[in-house]
Amino acid sequence: AAKRTGKNKLVTYNSSHVQRFSNQIQMETELRKAILENQLILYYQPRLELSTGNIICLEALVRWNHPKLGLIAPNEFIPLAEESGLILSLGEWVLREACLQKARWLEAGILNYQIAVNISPCQFQDESFSDKAIQIIEQTGIDPAFLEFEITESSIMQNMDTTVAVLDKLCNKGISISIDDFGIGYSSLNYLKQFPIHCLKIDRSFVKNIHSNKDDWAITNAIIHLGHALEVQVVAEGVEEWSQLEILKETTCTTIQGYLLSPPVSAIEIEQTFHRNNNKPVMIS
Ligand code: C2E
Ligand code: MG
Ligand code: MG
Ligand code: MG
Repeated sequence: AAKRTGKNKLVTYNSSHVQRFSNQIQMETELRKAILENQLILYYQPRLELSTGNIICLEALVRWNHPKLGLIAPNEFIPLAEESGLILSLGEWVLREACLQKARWLEAGILNYQIAVNISPCQFQDESFSDKAIQIIEQTGIDPAFLEFEITESSIMQNMDTTVAVLDKLCNKGISISIDDFGIGYSSLNYLKQFPIHCLKIDRSFVKNIHSNKDDWAITNAIIHLGHALEVQVVAEGVEEWSQLEILKETTCTTIQGYLLSPPVSAIEIEQTFHRNNNKPVMIS
């Protein structure tokens, strides 16, 4: 269950919430409406570069601001969106909104970071995905170099021919690609030499006990060094404690994300933090 409190509070992640919908069909109907009626909202979580202390990227994370139920976490509706096919229009909404937000920040001359957008395996395997994505980016006038697509190992492994074609197209446009939840997928490492990957995001299940579990330390350490050898960025996800950060620094991890730095927050909140701190990130704990 989600433990955060205060104004960033998300409804709990347990199933009781979803049970408030009388059934799956009702939830699907409401989600379809939510996409059309702008009930979705993007939160942003910063990624910090340890060597400079600078934020280098903001990950866009979708929430459903339900008129009666309040903010619903993505784990509660992304699976249904994937099952029902709604993920395609939801994913387009997310990408468009992330690009529009980036455009607003560019216009205001603030928060000059890359934006990372999560791409579902269903989107990634959709034939028209890369063309649609490029079209949205062009419509919003954003330089594709500002964008990173976070994909999972399962996206890559589903159909290698599609993967090669899609990644080539995206990379040629200048979009960066990161592997999300790295280490928990059922994939070979072979793809790392076939595809133009910019970043590995170490799954937070390894980071969680890095200070107390020898095996988690060993795996995290190995991924970090693999990343260095491949000359890609390595992000540790889910960093919550200083003790984890200390060990990540020792193991030469280059960038982190996690509640220690900031939970995902609304665009307004991230702008307020920006103004309060002169563009410098603050560690919360
Ligand atoms: P993810 O892409 O791996 O995103 C990271 C998740 O970890 C986020 O959960 C974030 O709030 C959470 N997190 C960040 N730091 C910490 C930490 O220090 N401790 C803990 N315990 N958790 C932390 P969130 O926002 O609930 O999203 C969950 C998942 O839903 C995401 O995992 C992603 O797979 C999916 N998702 C979110 N937004 C989108 C979207 O726009 N499109 C798609 N396809 N999937 C999305
Ligand atoms: Mg992600
Ligand atoms: Mg993800
Ligand atoms: Mg992840």
